[in-house]
Amino acid sequence: MSERGGSVAVAAQPNGTTDATLCNARVVAIANQKGGVGKTTTAINLSAELARRGKRVLLVDIDPQGNATTGLGLEKSDISACMYDVIIKSSPLDNIVCRTQVDGLWIAPSTLNLAGAEIELVSAISRELRLRNALRPCLSAYDYVFIDCPPSLGLLTLNAMSAADALIVPIQAEYFALEGLGQLTHVIELVRSHLNAHVRILGVLITMFDSRTNLGAQVVDEVEKYFPGLVFGSRIPRSIRLSEAPSHGAPIAVFDPKGKGAAAYAALASEVLARE
Ligand code: ATP
Ligand code: MG
Repeated sequence: MSERGGSVAVAAQPNGTTDATLCNARVVAIANQKGGVGKTTTAINLSAELARRGKRVLLVDIDPQGNATTGLGLEKSDISACMYDVIIKSSPLDNIVCRTQVDGLWIAPSTLNLAGAEIELVSAISRELRLRNALRPCLSAYDYVFIDCPPSLGLLTLNAMSAADALIVPIQAEYFALEGLGQLTHVIELVRSHLNAHVRILGVLITMFDSRTNLGAQVVDEVEKYFPGLVFGSRIPRSIRLSEAPSHGAPIAVFDPKGKGAAAYAALASEVLARE
């Protein structure tokens, strides 16, 4: 084990498990090529909430912005190896996984190095399947693996969709919310046809919702028409505390456990568990 700032890189995966080897983790990618819709906020807070409920959770950050990495309190300058090394250099995922301050939650960090991966992957063998292959040996150590995707439909997101059993699509309750969804669903269909036949949308999550405005309600209506039966009943409200938590390196359940943001992500976690 090597110390990295406040976190610890773990060579061995979470232990003390009983039936861990019998059951593989459920892999859920959080994807929407639109920027700033709440992918990372959802990845951090849903992961942390499930870990607090006793699940063993790995959050894989495949966004070169590394917002999930820093949002969970890791210092980028302390990270010597990241998802770039896993995806491009075929380093074992175990070697880069770090502990977080939340018991039961580990992170596979990202740094800006990963920005190069999008280009380097173009000519790589099995370029869409790098992440799936890297995850395979680790799946028995976790109950859930969440993948925080970048805001694009490039090769990193394709790697996430190819590795995933299911997708969560966060949609910001704003004007133009539906923009780009046609392209997203088309890419999901392509992935199902060519790369990963069993991936499906686990749920669509309305984020930054303001129940006081008509616009919020209209967007929910439209999204429900577009994704019948798939929209989570839990909606994530707009909350200053949710936007402040990452700068404290903490999930909302730690930063503001009694606030409406924590309650919303707790409700989402229950829905996710119920949709299994
Ligand atoms: P990107 O596409 O750049 O990766 P993203 O989809 O991951 O973005 P986030 O980083 O989660 O989106 O959120 C975008 C911004 O909105 C951040 O500053 C975040 O703190 C803020 N934010 C996210 N969810 C909420 C919310 N429910 N209420 C208020 N602010 C929020
Ligand atoms: Mg993000």
